[in-house]
Amino acid sequence: MRVVIKVGTSTLAHSTGRLNVRRTQELCQVLGDLKNAGHEIVLVSSGAIGMGVGKLGLSARPKDIPTKQAAAAVGQCELMYTYDRMFLEQNHTVAQILLTGSDFSHEDRRENFCNTLSRLLELKALPIINENDTIATDEIRVGDNDTLSALVAVNAKADLLVILSDIDGLYSADPKKNKNASLISCVHGVDEKIYALAGGEGSSLGTGGMRTKLHAAQICNDGGFDMIIANGEDPKRLYDIFDGKSVGTRFCAKK
Ligand code: GLU
Repeated sequence: MRVVIKVGTSTLAHSTGRLNVRRTQELCQVLGDLKNAGHEIVLVSSGAIGMGVGKLGLSARPKDIPTKQAAAAVGQCELMYTYDRMFLEQNHTVAQILLTGSDFSHEDRRENFCNTLSRLLELKALPIINENDTIATDEIRVGDNDTLSALVAVNAKADLLVILSDIDGLYSADPKKNKNASLISCVHGVDEKIYALAGGEGSSLGTGGMRTKLHAAQICNDGGFDMIIANGEDPKRLYDIFDGKSVGTRFCAKK
């Protein structure tokens, strides 16, 4: 299987913005093992801004663009350094790709991206993708990594996108407010009713919330493949997903 996995800041970092070493290590181990089993893995990782906030000792996620972009420049380095080390322990080679929204709309650039990605996979490297936050302005940015991961998955001709987050999946109501809220295991078609189930905000360190994940699901389903939202707190759940077991919420494409 060729699978794109998106991991959010809330999975990789503690609320301080500092790296959750144990979780990230577990994630890298599982991904490395899935590669050993012959799967093609593409990782879309957030965490640059969050980690930059931690490394620069800022008290909160900055609101102004230059500080956000400065934090991303510091944090992206830290992020790749961490992945490089952790994957090297398992003899896997990582590659960094930074993209903006306009890279998908310029045909030449999109094609270059696709060619590079497939060559990296042929070479058994593990592409790790993030938005190029340091140069992305409103006009050209994708804006959130849920949407970015869906665009990557479509262009990578992936079989599946898995979004790991700090929630188990899509609920019938806000589980923080409603005790009777139940996890929806399968969604066939993202429509207005499904959008109505999405709350507003994400975590204080990340960007997306449920809406951006539903938008990502729509992009994947339109592209003809499924998307899963699952909790990233235990990366070993990825094994169940690859074994075809029901984990989190699966958004099924029309077959
Ligand atoms: N690209 C941002 C980062 O790495 C994250 C965007 C998102 O969380 O959706 O910090």
